Amino acid sequence: MTTLQVAVVGSGPAGIYTAEALIKQAAKLDPPVTVQVDVLDRLPTPYGLVRYGVAPDHPSIRSIADYLRNVLEHDSVSFLGGVHLGDDVTREDLLASYDAVVYATGAMRDRRMGIPGEDLPGSYAATNFVNWYCGHPDSDAGAFTLDAESVAVVGVGNVAVDVARILVRDPAELSRTDIPQAVLEALMASKVREVHMIGRRGPAQAKFTTKELRELGELSGVDIVVHPSEIDLGAFDPTGQSAETAESDRRVRGNLAVIQDWAGRAPAGESVAERRLTVRFWLRPVAVEGADRVSGLTVERTRLDEQGKFTGTGEFETIPAQMVFRSVGYQSVPLDGVPFDERSYTVPNADGRVLGPDGAPLPGEYVAGWLKRGPTGVVGTNKSDAAGTVRSLLADLTSEGAAARRPSPDELIARLAERGVRPVSYADWLRVEQAEAELGGTLGRGERVKIGDRVAIEALCRPPAG
Ligand code: NAP
Repeated sequence: MTTLQVAVVGSGPAGIYTAEALIKQAAKLDPPVTVQVDVLDRLPTPYGLVRYGVAPDHPSIRSIADYLRNVLEHDSVSFLGGVHLGDDVTREDLLASYDAVVYATGAMRDRRMGIPGEDLPGSYAATNFVNWYCGHPDSDAGAFTLDAESVAVVGVGNVAVDVARILVRDPAELSRTDIPQAVLEALMASKVREVHMIGRRGPAQAKFTTKELRELGELSGVDIVVHPSEIDLGAFDPTGQSAETAESDRRVRGNLAVIQDWAGRAPAGESVAERRLTVRFWLRPVAVEGADRVSGLTVERTRLDEQGKFTGTGEFETIPAQMVFRSVGYQSVPLDGVPFDERSYTVPNADGRVLGPDGAPLPGEYVAGWLKRGPTGVVGTNKSDAAGTVRSLLADLTSEGAAARRPSPDELIARLAERGVRPVSYADWLRVEQAEAELGGTLGRGERVKIGDRVAIEALCRPPAG
């Protein structure tokens, strides 16, 4: 029986679902093919966005984490952590060592708003805040001091919802989650009382999903406010598009029901709630204000014109805020030597086959997940996406006439050793898991508390020899 050697670059959901699809689909071929998959990651820790993107108060994701863990523990899968494509290995190294390479490095860069003041102190990418509260090793534990009373979160997608929720939620409710201890303490000391979440279009165009949205209204000690005129589907949209979408799209219908419910609640003036979240629509940011740090966000009222074109009205408002988070989407980062489309921020591909400059598939190179289709969908979306890429890969590599190769992943390990790189194995990583469980016990915070400090993680994963 043939054994195919495949490298998957990226151990987030897309990468691990790819490994799983490879094993399952190859076993069903006639005759069956065995596969050995090496899953590489630039970080010493696996799971990508499942570990470093999912908010700590969303433990339902645990079942996905367990599922991914089972794949990494499969006999045919090896984890090679702390190996950076670009610094530690080249694309050529990988192509020489494996029958095929699947790039699944996700989308880790934030998009920018492109407005004045965006780089003022106090103006941040939501992705940095997410990295911080998830204990990402690239983020410093002291990266955020929440000394602002009022915060503006730009964007109405699920990341904006996560950021807004973490900012207004009673931090005591987070103490039983795995949130890093330093982050929990910073949230305990937070001065934030008011959060404004700002959509440049209307509620019918907002990207958030209903379950996530509903959760905002269920937070204890938080008033939630919407402006009735901004949620009137006809007020800023004379075309009737918004009302039509509300009829035809189940998610939008669900979102609107939640928002209408909020609008029907008692006015915030009568409330004694600790914190307030105001969700605004039809406002586009035009400037982050401030001299040496953020003092506000100026927004322009928007609408659709009679032809349905999105336009500014020339009416401006400055929302007082001492911190601004832009949550306007992620972007993929080009990989050294791998084709990249600078307009869509994805790797050009046909059914997961990486396309060269002439539009023809490059032998042995594939792409999956956000790097393939852009930053959309929920974690599970990557499962079917990865399965599609793997169908292409196996069709190519097992077709009659496919060139027989003699790849040797061992050579890659030897080359890494020459360069002074010792990959973190799955067993090495388990020491981090164990230390996190112990920390949870020591702090009396439950099952596990995340260790975010890179030095501490490195020391656990790659203890000095001897
Ligand atoms: P997203 O869903 O694409 O939302 C981005 C938001 O930013 C949109 O409201 C967009 O408005 C707005 N925006 C873009 N450019 C803007 C600009 N220049 N000025 C003002 N607003 C701007 O992206 P995301 O929230 O980063 O989420 C990424 C993916 O992860 C999504 O698929 C999301 O569902 C998923 N996710 C899921 C969960 C969960 O399931 N719990 C949690 C987090 C993330 P327009 O529509 O007008 O462009």
